[in-house]
Amino acid sequence: MSSIDKLIDIFKKFPTVGPRTARRFVYYLIKLPKNQIDELSRALEELKNNVKLCQLCFNPFEDSGGPSSADLCEICSDLRRNKNLLCIVEKEADLLSIENTKKYNGLYFILGGTLAMMRKEDIDNLRIEPLKERIKTGNFSEIIIALNPTPEGKATSMLIERMLKESFGAAQDLKQSFKITHLAKGIPVGGELEYADEETLESAFEGRK
Ligand SMILES: [Zn+2]
Repeated sequence: MSSIDKLIDIFKKFPTVGPRTARRFVYYLIKLPKNQIDELSRALEELKNNVKLCQLCFNPFEDSGGPSSADLCEICSDLRRNKNLLCIVEKEADLLSIENTKKYNGLYFILGGTLAMMRKEDIDNLRIEPLKERIKTGNFSEIIIALNPTPEGKATSMLIERMLKESFGAAQDLKQSFKITHLAKGIPVGGELEYADEETLESAFEGRK
């Protein structure tokens, strides 16, 4: 495989990038001066070396390493956050959108995707077991399922809710009991949190039930 084809192959696997855009990226790179290519390679290298996934919520964060090396992201290690609220989102970008509203002060959990179909291999790609663990070790009074109002998001919300009820609903010895809430309607059907304007997201959040 030629270097050009190899790179096209890599880029076309990126979210929202098809083969046509992938090809454009590669021709753009061919025209870049050597120093910019070096800078790009270094940035990629650093990304892999410096960025970790938070042990609790799976939010990626920059860790400088050394003696102050951390396992938790800024949100999970922030003592001012409300540790009784857990908001389940599909991906990092959704967490950022909610953070940008500045109306939510609880914790998050990044599920890592939604389901197109209820196939076992799709379900296995979600962080269902880590989510159960997270809830067991936490002390939550409310769990907010904030997935996109797309068919996939809705199916996944239902699955999560059922799973939570099965795992935690009947457990008498559980030291906590939490309510499960969903975002209020308002985000356009089929729309995504990532693209919702702040005001819409804010009211969807405040009206959750
Ligand atoms: Zn975290």
